[in-house]
Amino acid sequence: MKAVVIGGGIAGLLAARVLTESFDDVVVLERDKLSGQPEYRAGVPQGRHVHGLLVRGGEIMEGLFPGLYDELVQAGAHLMDAGEMRILNPLGWVASTRTGLPLLVASRPLLETHVRRRVTAKIMDDVHVTGLSFCGSTVDGVLTGDGRVDAELVVDASGRSSKLPKWLAEAGIVVPEPDEVDSRTGYATRIYTAPKDFPVVVAESLASPHTPRGGIVMRIEGDRLMVTAQGAGGDHPPRDPEGFQRFLDSLRGPIAGMLADAEPLTPAYLFARTASRRFAFERTPGWPGGLVAVGDAVCVFNPVYGQGMTVAAMAALVFRRHADFSAKGCRDFQRKVAKTAESAWVLSSNADEGWVDGAHAPPGPFKRAFGWYLKKWQVALVHDQDVFRRFVRVVHMVDSPAALLNPVVFRRLAKYSRPDRRPGRRPAVPNPR
Ligand SMILES: Cc1cc2nc3c(=O)[nH]c(=O)nc-3n(C[C@H](O)[C@H](O)[C@H](O)COP(=O)(O)OP(=O)(O)OC[C@H]3O[C@@H](n4cnc5c(N)ncnc54)[C@H](O)[C@@H]3O)c2cc1C
Repeated sequence: MKAVVIGGGIAGLLAARVLTESFDDVVVLERDKLSGQPEYRAGVPQGRHVHGLLVRGGEIMEGLFPGLYDELVQAGAHLMDAGEMRILNPLGWVASTRTGLPLLVASRPLLETHVRRRVTAKIMDDVHVTGLSFCGSTVDGVLTGDGRVDAELVVDASGRSSKLPKWLAEAGIVVPEPDEVDSRTGYATRIYTAPKDFPVVVAESLASPHTPRGGIVMRIEGDRLMVTAQGAGGDHPPRDPEGFQRFLDSLRGPIAGMLADAEPLTPAYLFARTASRRFAFERTPGWPGGLVAVGDAVCVFNPVYGQGMTVAAMAALVFRRHADFSAKGCRDFQRKVAKTAESAWVLSSNADEGWVDGAHAPPGPFKRAFGWYLKKWQVALVHDQDVFRRFVRVVHMVDSPAALLNPVVFRRLAKYSRPDRRPGRRPAVPNPR
């Protein structure tokens, strides 16, 4: 049995890793030329920006490739407690505390290269997939620039710019319009030298509707800092050095001051196609046998929540409990994949509604309750380490959001009604506790 995976990004590599457990032959077709070394590449433009791997995603990857964390740390990645990130939310510094959850901090190229080295499937680079090959109502391979590759199963993992809906439409199969929530967030990122003792992660989070600007600084391999400026609601950071610096200076927290002794090593790179979008492939009439999709090709998230690689990892595990790739089996597979993305989608899309153009119509009861609940959280996260610990477990997808909907949490949140905001003061970075 042969499986072909389109795309050698994180979703494709992890899918290939799991497929090697049940298929005799697994081939990954990647459009970019791969050098074997960690480097930025055209097919993954988002690789130039901060890529936080949530704890759940890290656990899955370490499970699939035992020893991966050690290898990455040897290559310069950092391992820290997920609760010890310094995060400034709109109301103050969150109550950072140890959680016992290991968080790996590395650049996207470093992570992807080490994962790729561990995948035993055959990876063919410089191969552009241009369409699907059909035998009746079943997909039996893919078309490439100069030929075709047969397969019993084709897995689309070609990311945010996947052409799958178009390829299916050419075969008369119409995918329903996707759900979309566009926070109009833009990223700009530069690499800097790292001053001595700079924390591993310092973040200033944005939040609708009044805090459109934020940033995140991560210590990455090679003793460098990756500095990403983020602006939502169309308030994008500029790429020219002066504009980038002005944007950092305009943040509420100390990021600009902390970088005073850091030297920029690269220009700023921009990325602004950040809308969250999900396709309901499981509801597509006439979906063919022999074809499934994972990763960003199915569901992309506003990257500020750092969910994409983890949801891709969860989708890869679905291959372990699924063996039927008939037309019905493939729709069932997509149903399971949609389920793995559901809680991430609910969290990010509801939090982003405040940025959506024309979303200022009076919200319904669910949205009002969600908004009220989020505000309570922002206050509680500043004051309460227990609340923060629970929040970290949910945000990192270790626990489901249901873990936050219980009477103990409600009682704790009820205590916190007053924002701890001191206008005009720029808060210093707290020491680790
Ligand atoms: C600015 C930004 C920041 C992000 N930050 C985070 C973060 O902090 N944490 C996180 O978890 N996620 C983050 N993400 C999301 C994350 O990058 C993706 O969710 C994750 O990489 C899974 O994507 P993928 O493998 O499906 O697609 P990709 O990583 O985009 O890989 C797709 C691959 O398919 C190849 N390809 C495309 N078309 C073809 C074709 N026709 N033939 C052959 N190959 C093809 C591409 O070259 C590429 O290698 C961020 C995204 C953006 C845009």
